Amino acid sequence: MSVTSTSNFVQAIIDEDIANGAKEIYTRFPPEPNGYLHVGHAKSICLNFGLAERNNGKCNLRFDDTNPVKEDTEYVDSIKADVEWLGFHWEGEERYASDYFPKFYECAVQLIKDGKAFVCDLTAEEMREYRGTLTEPGKESPYRNRSVEENLALFEAMKNGEFPDGAKVLRAKIDMASPNINMRDPIIYRIAHAHHHRTGDAWCIYPMYDFAHPISDAIEGISHSVCTLEFEDHRPLYDWVLDNLAEFAQFPSRPHQYEFARLELNNTITSKRKLKKLVDEGIVDGWDDPRMPTISGMRRRGYTPEAIRNFCDMIGVSKSNSRVEFGMLEYCLREDLNMNARRAMVVLDPLKITITNYPEGQIEYLDAEINPNKPELGTYKIPFGREIYIEQEDFKEEANNKFFRLKPGKEVRLKHAYIIQCDEVVKDEAGNIIELKCSYDPTTRSGMENANRKVKGTLHWVEATTALDAEVHMLDFLLLPEQGEGDFMEYLNPNSLVVKAGCKATPDMKEAKAGDKFQFLRNGYFCVDSRYSTPEHLVFNETVSLKGNYKPE
Ligand code: ATP
Ligand code: MG
Repeated sequence: MSVTSTSNFVQAIIDEDIANGAKEIYTRFPPEPNGYLHVGHAKSICLNFGLAERNNGKCNLRFDDTNPVKEDTEYVDSIKADVEWLGFHWEGEERYASDYFPKFYECAVQLIKDGKAFVCDLTAEEMREYRGTLTEPGKESPYRNRSVEENLALFEAMKNGEFPDGAKVLRAKIDMASPNINMRDPIIYRIAHAHHHRTGDAWCIYPMYDFAHPISDAIEGISHSVCTLEFEDHRPLYDWVLDNLAEFAQFPSRPHQYEFARLELNNTITSKRKLKKLVDEGIVDGWDDPRMPTISGMRRRGYTPEAIRNFCDMIGVSKSNSRVEFGMLEYCLREDLNMNARRAMVVLDPLKITITNYPEGQIEYLDAEINPNKPELGTYKIPFGREIYIEQEDFKEEANNKFFRLKPGKEVRLKHAYIIQCDEVVKDEAGNIIELKCSYDPTTRSGMENANRKVKGTLHWVEATTALDAEVHMLDFLLLPEQGEGDFMEYLNPNSLVVKAGCKATPDMKEAKAGDKFQFLRNGYFCVDSRYSTPEHLVFNETVSLKGNYKPE
């Protein structure tokens, strides 16, 4: 697929670092296992793993599991599966920040010994008061000048579980007058009597992200620690931690942090907290509901790793936040599916036709192309007979000259089959159209004398006696386009899922497997649902429509 890769300022930095003698490019993707990954994470994954691939380097998968309350092994497993599905390989085994708990502790003790950290008893509220504001400096904590001995003893007592949650914290002793609030004696350890998904009850104190992250990076030998823009103001603290521990810890590398803009897509939720709420409240069918912008949801819906990777390439990496058109992601998806999805004829809203001059009981098998973009894939067989289904909307009793589909007395071509003409409309007592009686021209099939006879419209169809019943889920955004200030739950789209039962598919679909992708002619791209579909009861998710408005420049 020809998508031009846009600018990537991190690569530009790496180019310079390599020119200046950098030996190894080593990145990491550090998700917190407190939810499933979403499309925003895909950008970070493509960036971090992509930088490693492009520069012959390495990339770690590290679970940033320093907050025991929200973390779970279900999330660990899903994250690994998602990264692999996107087609990336992490270096060695996956890492866990929790494996470094002893090292974090040693580092904290060292800062205390060096007079650079202290145990503080201020309450959360007092701490807020002492912190100051953007325009006013903070005030020093009355506990700031505890002796090293006292701090060591108190920190050990914290570790030994002698205090309840919130009673004390360990803070770095930096500068309460710093213009950067992150540098005003930030908390680096807190007490949490909580069960951890890996370390169990071994610890009741846990390091803060700003302390654990730089140390984890340095332990792993990371060179470029890439994160999102909201951490820009935390970078001085990242550097402070590493600079003040370098001599003691003798880390294998001195990583540097670089920040890029988060991916935000219109009408799309890219917050694990909000996505979790949709799952917990049963608004969606789990994290992998095909409407969810999670990687597992997109996979179930029929997105391909190639499409997502191309999209991440196309949007580039920049330092300014901006919202990306969802249409761009759909564009990348269509490009891929158009080349690779098998063609199929499925009727979503069936209207029965009897072809009165076709022999009763006869079925003939016709050739249908698998994908016109790949003629080498050849054809598959579809049955044709006296009774078929077309879409209800492909027939109109009264229509103007622009309606090139079927109307009384007029002809259309049935794709891969014959030209038919509508002779009679059958209605029920209420006046609803329930059937059409048509006649066919037996000389108009491919290879026959009138195969090329021109009629304006071509319809997809399915032979009725061999048809399989299918359920098709038509999908739309979870959020309505017009979002105000309020809670996102007020903007849920009530029509994000429309279930069409009684759709009709050709019998070859019996072979369709979970995850198989199709272009239903004239109807869009669809994917076999991995949870509910069986050969006896096919269930498809609408992946994306055939056409969108977005055009690349
Ligand atoms: P959320 O806000 O959804 O909870 P998070 O940033 O807390 O996301 P993490 O598990 O900490 O989630 O994220 C792992 C990595 O993915 C981080 O480096 C983070 O910066 C990156 N990331 C998360 N969301 C986005 C996004 N929307 N665009 C780009 N990168 C993202
Ligand atoms: Mg986070």
